[in-house]
Amino acid sequence: MLNVKLGRGIVFLFLFASVPAFATSDSLMIAKIYEHSFYRGEAYENLRYLTKKIGHRIAGSERVAQAVDWSKGLMEQLAFDKVYLQDVRVPYWDRGSSEEAYILGDAQRLKVLALGGSVATPEEGITAEVIEVELLSDLRKYGENVQGKIVFVNKPWDESLVETGIAYGLNSAQRSRGPAEAAKLGAVAYLFRSLGSGIDDYPHTGATRYVKGIDSIPAMAISAIGANRLHTALEKDPNLKVFLRQHSAWKGEVLSHNVIAEWKGTDHPGQIITIGGHLDSWDVGEGAHDNGTGTMGTLDALRTLMALGYKPKHTIRLVFYMNEENGVHGASQYGLQSKQKGEQLIAAIESDAGGFAPRGFDIKGGPEAVAWIQRSWKPLFEESYWVSRFLPGSPGVDSGVWGKHYPGALMFNFRPDPHRYFDLHHTAKDVFEAVDKRELQSGVAALASLLYLIDTHYEVLPN
Ligand SMILES: [Zn+2]
Repeated sequence: MLNVKLGRGIVFLFLFASVPAFATSDSLMIAKIYEHSFYRGEAYENLRYLTKKIGHRIAGSERVAQAVDWSKGLMEQLAFDKVYLQDVRVPYWDRGSSEEAYILGDAQRLKVLALGGSVATPEEGITAEVIEVELLSDLRKYGENVQGKIVFVNKPWDESLVETGIAYGLNSAQRSRGPAEAAKLGAVAYLFRSLGSGIDDYPHTGATRYVKGIDSIPAMAISAIGANRLHTALEKDPNLKVFLRQHSAWKGEVLSHNVIAEWKGTDHPGQIITIGGHLDSWDVGEGAHDNGTGTMGTLDALRTLMALGYKPKHTIRLVFYMNEENGVHGASQYGLQSKQKGEQLIAAIESDAGGFAPRGFDIKGGPEAVAWIQRSWKPLFEESYWVSRFLPGSPGVDSGVWGKHYPGALMFNFRPDPHRYFDLHHTAKDVFEAVDKRELQSGVAALASLLYLIDTHYEVLPN
């Protein structure tokens, strides 16, 4: 008997030593949030409207202007204290009519998309021989042979990496810097194996850049299947020629907006927690996972807390950033204006990694804050909700940009399951049908729960 009692006593003490006193009320609140999100969540239906009625929405376009107006209206239906637009000037790049690519003498077309920001080919197209490399650095050994050729960078995706974001990062500089590097050596066009996982016939677009003083040459992404086909054809005939044509162009600057809503805090109204994601998308597919789920998800997280009668202590500010995909001008403007007004932006949550089942959050904060969160908040999520990743990491792209003005802000980057994101990313496959309602609403609940925890316990968090 004595042993059993002693045993229970030890367990009892251990529990109380390891679980903070507020854990029970927090667990109850989180349970309510999840229940509400699963039964009465609205993110999925809002996403349906954004993707099906408005569709893809590149910064500067007519459609993104529609998305701005519509999402402002959506925010105005909720109990925010203030909803407004913040002016942002954005560059407008237009793809023009569809791209063409084929190997001369081969009737089957290669699937390509102009890279974002690319110039057009001449109207008659470009016909040239091809130099294939895996890495831009391999180009040097071809020296003058690059003159007049199409440079084809064909580096396959590293399928071994569970963290698909790392696989993306490994090769993204070849997309952005490639055209300038190839042009330096006299290339006439740049053909880039799509930055995406899986082997299919969908090219992935994405931003590329030119360098002042170096010729701007047309740049295209080719599907993985197309890249493999071209590779095999080049093995048989290294002197084959490829035809490329595209019509994209910069259309100058356009006035656009960040869409912002504020929910005033009761105790610390001057301290602001920013939550949101980017509203623009690439101009293919429907911008569903990138980033309809991030905007509709963060909005629904706030609506959920409102529906449960929650009153925030700090001001919660929802921001739909403009132009993340090709300039990040919205987040720059947000940071600049906040700084000029002397606002206190204390914390942030960003959602821009898709609407798949939530796995956790990357945290940008001091080591003590991260350790505290791992000890106190992670247990509230991991067993019941399968959300267990709370690791130091980078904030999202938008928070990272405005965060330069706020180096002390505690930032969270929402991390859903990473396996399928880069199959769809920047392709025609990123459509509403690729989003699962239950996974999306589960993410909404994770976002709302984390926002609730930050707001409720910010004062006791170590710096
Ligand atoms: Zn995105």
